[in-house]
Amino acid sequence: MDTYGLIGKPLSHSFSARYFNHKFEQEGVKAVYINLELDSVEELLPTIEGLPHLKGLNVTIPYKRDVIPLLDELSPEAARIGAVNVININRRTDNTFTLSGFNSDYIGFAESLRPLVANRQHFKALVLGTGGASLAVKAVLDDFDIPYLSVSRTSVHNASHIITYADLTPDIINAHNLVINTTPVGMSPNIDAHLPLPWSGFSSNHIAYDLIYNPEQTSFMQHAQQFGAITKNGLDMLHRQAEAAWKIWNSTQNPQPISPK
Ligand code: NAP
Repeated sequence: MDTYGLIGKPLSHSFSARYFNHKFEQEGVKAVYINLELDSVEELLPTIEGLPHLKGLNVTIPYKRDVIPLLDELSPEAARIGAVNVININRRTDNTFTLSGFNSDYIGFAESLRPLVANRQHFKALVLGTGGASLAVKAVLDDFDIPYLSVSRTSVHNASHIITYADLTPDIINAHNLVINTTPVGMSPNIDAHLPLPWSGFSSNHIAYDLIYNPEQTSFMQHAQQFGAITKNGLDMLHRQAEAAWKIWNSTQNPQPISPK
């Protein structure tokens, strides 16, 4: 049976296996999705060799960057972002294979943001956090011509596009009408944790977008809502990035991969 899987560690709270196995059941697809917890990224190639029906993989923390040297090709987005969360396994008849890497977080975020910004102009964004997901978010903002400022817990010498939470004022929040939380702060089970933001800078002109999807109503959204902001959680992005992965695994016309080397 066609097999798909998720590599990462730990995988106990992963969404993907539930999502895809439910989808396969609903849509009558004869396939199975399994978790493949790897102790190190070096286990990737032997794992693929040992599972001849494995057609595609999702990649999660901590391997989104580490898998890149093991791949043969990268999509332009994955190359630009420097992170891969979808691998397509291209099997040849002689049992050898090549691996192509993609970034469906980019696709998921782009598709979920598009309707929010479609009929409005002059967006300026604040991106909270500088981790893996923020890289996909910033690539989308670049492609949507939305200027942004990053906010981090630590200051980076000579980086004018990164400020710290201590630098933030209500005026700065007010001047950035799209605020995107790419940190895990407020994620289940620590749902009451919240970032040290000057919340009074939010207004009804703001969109507060949280990449967190569990809980559905996050502490970031609740705080911004109190000052009138429109809010969105990460569920739409999550579903869209999963569907984008499914399309990649089933497409004969994948985005033109380029060499990572
Ligand atoms: P990550 O690589 O660990 O990065 C998170 C960043 O958040 C860190 O680099 C850090 O940036 C900041 N951060 C971490 N702990 C913090 C704290 N206690 N206080 C303030 N800032 C903190 O994680 P990720 O892969 O980017 O994922 C981040 C979140 O996005 C997770 O909640 C994940 O579930 C969610 N996500 C959702 C989707 C979706 O489809 N909806 C997709 C991908 C990720 P600084 O060091 O610069 O402060």
